[in-house]
Amino acid sequence: MENCIFCKIVKGEIPCNKVYEDDKVIAFNDINPEAPVHVLVVPKTHIKSIMDLSGDEHQLISHVFKVISEIAKDLKLSEKGFRIVNNIGEDGGQTVPHIHFHILGGRSMQWPPG
Ligand code: 5GP
Ligand code: ZN
Repeated sequence: MENCIFCKIVKGEIPCNKVYEDDKVIAFNDINPEAPVHVLVVPKTHIKSIMDLSGDEHQLISHVFKVISEIAKDLKLSEKGFRIVNNIGEDGGQTVPHIHFHILGGRSMQWPPG
């Protein structure tokens, strides 16, 4: 997608602080962190949200969760806990229309969120 900021990061057209990459996903630090650890895990294919996945792409999401657990282990988040967030659409607070999962950690989280 031409004007998608995450597609530009995937293509290397916009720099990012990368923490993980493979052929299917890239993960990098959020530019505006909401917690001491705030990593975005982004599938490389431009898909707007989980509502737009086609058959094969559901496997991609299970891969994303495997990657999240590996990153959480590397960043030593698993002992105290952390949060995974996926915002969908306007009411969900999605501001970048390219599917992504937030890893938030390094502090205690509140529930319910605002
Ligand atoms: P959303 O609100 O769509 O769930 O999350 C989008 C996230 O992307 C926000 O937390 C925002 O700070 C982050 N973000 C937006 N533009 C950029 C960027 O150019 N680089 C990085 N690293 N993060 C970005
Ligand atoms: Zn995109």
